[in-house]
Amino acid sequence: MPAGRYAPSPSGPLHLGNLRTAVLAWLFARHTGRGFLLRIEDLDRVRSGAEELQLADLRAIGLDWDGTPVRQSERLDRYERAVAALAADGLAYECFCSRKDIAEATSAPHPAGPPSGAPGVLLPPGAYPGTCRRLSEAERARRRRERPAALRIDAAAAAGLPDGTAPLHAITDVLHGEVTAAVDDFVLRRNDGAFAYNLAVVVDDVAQGVDQVVRGDDLLSSAPRQDWLARLLAPRTGAAVPGTEYVHVPLVLSPAGRRLAKRDGAVTLSDLAALPAGAPGVPDGGWTPARVRDLLLDSLGLPPGDLRHALAHFAPDTVPRTPWTPPHALTHPAEQAPERIRFPR
Ligand code: GLU
Repeated sequence: MPAGRYAPSPSGPLHLGNLRTAVLAWLFARHTGRGFLLRIEDLDRVRSGAEELQLADLRAIGLDWDGTPVRQSERLDRYERAVAALAADGLAYECFCSRKDIAEATSAPHPAGPPSGAPGVLLPPGAYPGTCRRLSEAERARRRRERPAALRIDAAAAAGLPDGTAPLHAITDVLHGEVTAAVDDFVLRRNDGAFAYNLAVVVDDVAQGVDQVVRGDDLLSSAPRQDWLARLLAPRTGAAVPGTEYVHVPLVLSPAGRRLAKRDGAVTLSDLAALPAGAPGVPDGGWTPARVRDLLLDSLGLPPGDLRHALAHFAPDTVPRTPWTPPHALTHPAEQAPERIRFPR
């Protein structure tokens, strides 16, 4: 069954920005008759207890999902197989570069451009310049003794392009239209052995039949490379080549215009529930999960109440195109706190 999904990283409690994106992901999936899956992206940055709290908060504002949520930490064999399939086709290589090596290499002038008529483009600024792509086996053996290798995709080889160029890939986003980017040799497995976000997310979306990706627009620039990788991997895993619908939704910002974060004040369900009655911005009866849900729906121009009721009024073309800032009273306290005050975590 075609499906949409919400894929939180259990690094802490969900804040209003995460919850609003989750509501949008649910609305888009249900509006288009898709299934809705929940995937816990717990390959790193895991905080103990956060997963349970996140699921409870999603349920509290009325989200439901199909089946049992999957955890990336339990799917390592799939990522391993995907990497092995790419390596077997000569499309992955070991990279020994440190961040500093890459920063230095990318600040140096680039060599000549692609041969005229080649369909790729010159590597964009900041792209991995391919330093380790053509190391000899002897050189690799020597470098392995110095530091563990990361594994990178050989994007030019996968696209049949000359070294020094990158394939261009376009996706269509419901809110942003066509977005084209060069695909560089991004990391598949980090040098600490962890599978990279871009690999895991694509392996899972392909394997789970996800054909609608709704998430914050901070990830828009990752979409072309992920879609490109999905098309490379799908035939290798026996899955259908996905025709994914992308929807990168505006972020929620603090009154200072920064991306909302937990430190910005009362921005999680439990922070909000703890605000005393009568405090500025606190409704009669306090911030119950249902009132927070209504606040989020209002920010989307939708009527208060059950999510199913909102769904009946939802139309993709009315989704706001600009970031939302919650009422100032909710985020005010921490914004005013002097920078040097840090609470223990
Ligand atoms: N786990 C990612 C995050 O919480 C989202 C990944 C995705 O939706 O592709 O930022």
